[in-house]
Amino acid sequence: MTKNALITGITGQDGSYLADLLLEKGYKVYGLRRRTSVPILENIEHIQNEIEFIEGDLLDLSSLIRAVQVSNPDEVYNLGAQSFVATSWDQPILTGQATALSVTNMLEAVRIVKPEARFYQASSSEMFGKVVETPQKETTPFYPRSPYGVAKVYGHWMTVNYRESYDMFACSGILFNHESPRRGIEFVTRKITNAVARIKLGLQQELRLGNLDALRDWGYAKDYVECMWLMLQQDTADDYVIATGETHSVREFCEIAFGYVGLDYQDYVVTDPKFFRAAEVDLLLGDPSKSINKLGWNPQKTTFKELVQLMVDKDLERVARNTNSNQSNVLGK
Ligand code: GDP
Repeated sequence: MTKNALITGITGQDGSYLADLLLEKGYKVYGLRRRTSVPILENIEHIQNEIEFIEGDLLDLSSLIRAVQVSNPDEVYNLGAQSFVATSWDQPILTGQATALSVTNMLEAVRIVKPEARFYQASSSEMFGKVVETPQKETTPFYPRSPYGVAKVYGHWMTVNYRESYDMFACSGILFNHESPRRGIEFVTRKITNAVARIKLGLQQELRLGNLDALRDWGYAKDYVECMWLMLQQDTADDYVIATGETHSVREFCEIAFGYVGLDYQDYVVTDPKFFRAAEVDLLLGDPSKSINKLGWNPQKTTFKELVQLMVDKDLERVARNTNSNQSNVLGK
């Protein structure tokens, strides 16, 4: 029988990869979509006709109740949020609403309309923040370092609480940084690969970055959404760390990305204090043992180097295509 899935955050990186995966598996996919003056379609353009969109907003409980009624979901994936750490200092209250309280709204909508639906919450390694142990695992205490991290801790504990209070099948996936060509351009990985493409094609001279020594456990988003699905296929609901078990610096990311197109990052990267954070997360390194053992997850499916290279390749392709079409427009072709 066809399963129904409801995805919040469907236009984002993870939502779009998850929609690809669920459509391949034969699911009927419903996506919650917030009204914007200009539609945000880039990541889901190729599947937009296969998705049933439901207008709604994570801050509006009645719209979520309606979304659950309309989609009658077997599985709910709550991926929507204000997801950029740096913005969370500029908009801490909105981040609290869109990243924290929204989780309760979604949990309530499911509890009221269809409590037997399985629920996935997108938790984050940013909850570990100023890490109290390394590597970080499911039992590591949280010490968030940004309004975003604090909001994610709230969402995580509400998910655990609804599991324990109402016996709902609610899982929290503590995902370490995960990147792809669909990553927002403001995140450091995409910012670098986009700049590498533009510099290589002669459209940009330098790249201004903040802290090059930050260490992150970076994986490939396309691999990570499989874990979200796997978590909801288990006999019991639980929480899992999803990570590669390797950590690399922003500097190393630059080295590989620039090196891949035959350039030396030191000739182009300029440090700009504007991109330093009010409080930094210096090191993240996840221990994926539980997801390896229980979900059968392979954290090394895509290596760090492959990830950087595939992102550079896509940005080279995209920047070249946009440049060509702009030139055609100028020439009136
Ligand atoms: P985050 O781990 O969710 O905050 O993901 P980001 O990709 O935004 O940032 C990863 C790390 O890169 C953080 O430690 C940032 O301080 C560091 N970083 C250094 N320069 C930059 C920059 O120019 N932009 C961003 N977004 N991050 C930067």
